[in-house]
Amino acid sequence: MSEVVVIGAGPAGCTLAALLAQRGIACTVFDDDQRPDLLVGESLIPGVVPVFRQLGIEDQVAAMSVRKPGASFFDGADGPRIHFSFTNVADHLPPYAFNTPRPELDNLLRRRAEELGARFLHARAQLEPCERDGQPSVRLSAADRSLLGLSDDAEPFLVDASGRARLLARFLNLPAQRGGRDDVALFAHFVDFTHDEVPEGQVIISLLRAGWSWRIPLPGRLSVGVVLPKDVARSLGATPEERLERILREDPAFGGRGAQARRVTPVMTYTNYQLISKRSHGPGWALLGDAFGFNDPMLSPGLFLSLQGARELDACVFRHGTRLLHQPAALARALDTYNRRMTDWHEAWSELIAYFYDGRIFRMHLAGRHLAEKPSPFKVASHMERHSTRQIASMASGGRTRSGYSRWLIRLLSNHLIWGVPPAENFAVRNTLSA
Ligand SMILES: Cc1cc2nc3c(=O)[nH]c(=O)nc-3n(C[C@H](O)[C@H](O)[C@H](O)COP(=O)(O)OP(=O)(O)OC[C@H]3O[C@@H](n4cnc5c(N)ncnc54)[C@H](O)[C@@H]3O)c2cc1C
Repeated sequence: MSEVVVIGAGPAGCTLAALLAQRGIACTVFDDDQRPDLLVGESLIPGVVPVFRQLGIEDQVAAMSVRKPGASFFDGADGPRIHFSFTNVADHLPPYAFNTPRPELDNLLRRRAEELGARFLHARAQLEPCERDGQPSVRLSAADRSLLGLSDDAEPFLVDASGRARLLARFLNLPAQRGGRDDVALFAHFVDFTHDEVPEGQVIISLLRAGWSWRIPLPGRLSVGVVLPKDVARSLGATPEERLERILREDPAFGGRGAQARRVTPVMTYTNYQLISKRSHGPGWALLGDAFGFNDPMLSPGLFLSLQGARELDACVFRHGTRLLHQPAALARALDTYNRRMTDWHEAWSELIAYFYDGRIFRMHLAGRHLAEKPSPFKVASHMERHSTRQIASMASGGRTRSGYSRWLIRLLSNHLIWGVPPAENFAVRNTLSA
């Protein structure tokens, strides 16, 4: 009999199921199998590699992926370029990550969870209200309970990992904190798309005339996506294909590199919002992955937060098996800790991502280069520049994202150690084509 039921077989749900199965905890995952053939979430960061190792699948991920040595940030065609290398994090994380076709990665995580003993049920889960421990709560619908063969008094712990469907949050109308962006993303895979002068596998993020773009090298193809304010997207054409192709043709950031390219997939459209739940757990339930919060695709924290979230939930609640599931007060305390940790992760990522949206990252980079080029006693300035680059690379890798020192350092640099460089607005992600 499953003591834990997970709704959603995305990366978050499958990772949690695998971790629980490793502990010998019986777990069933509801999977509605609604996944399209092409999914965003292809660019990973070094912080996910330890989770792959914990699950024993790093070699299989490597075999289906392109090894990612770092990420580069370009301001259009002629503006500054910043190259981050993951070698900067080698003292505390693997110095690489992967670019991975998402459906294959999801399938691998699911297979691994199954091998370890998790059970998957091909069904769309539904909820109904109930009372648990004297408080209003939710449980699976009667139909789903009978699918699982649950007796009347059995109340498995419910984990909502339904992604953007946010099944439980919508059902309970949970409050959420919305961020400032409300964009649309268009993307597709191409062959014969000329990449750029960066190391093989390096991901490129470019500021466009409006919005920004990603270029992610995958085995045999390049994933190209753009993230734009919705009104800008509408002004570019009637269909997603017209809109994406027009940007690739006309935006100087691509410099005609897509001229010979052939699109080999449909153009997919995603809304891109920023939304973090203000409440992530209640009696007998918890939120995980995108169902807990969706940050922003800039810097690719999504998969990391899903996998790390599964690890945090596992560590907080299931460290001693299922004992806490039968102790309501202790369970609530453990879930408070989970909530604090995940809220902290989300806040730290939001803080870091803001530097890339509002242009401070390019400004710091330019100021650092100017300083490093000037003669200084004992090369202090160039040591400082290298040190701050390492801190930022580590934050963007999932290593020191939450570190108080790293966050303090980049606040200090961006507020005070900036001389003789243009204002940050010059390098900000633009929201209109005319700006
Ligand atoms: C434009 C864009 C670009 C992105 N790029 C990246 C990137 O490069 N790198 C990165 O790390 N992240 C990226 N992300 C984020 C990443 O895709 C998500 O964070 C990640 O997929 C979240 O995983 P999850 O398991 O929480 O949810 P999902 O992957 O959404 O999985 C949820 C699963 O639950 C299923 N489900 C839903 N409702 C039910 C139900 N009632 N019953 C049963 N099953 C159900 C769904 O079908 C789905 O399979 C990007 C996001 C966007 C919008």
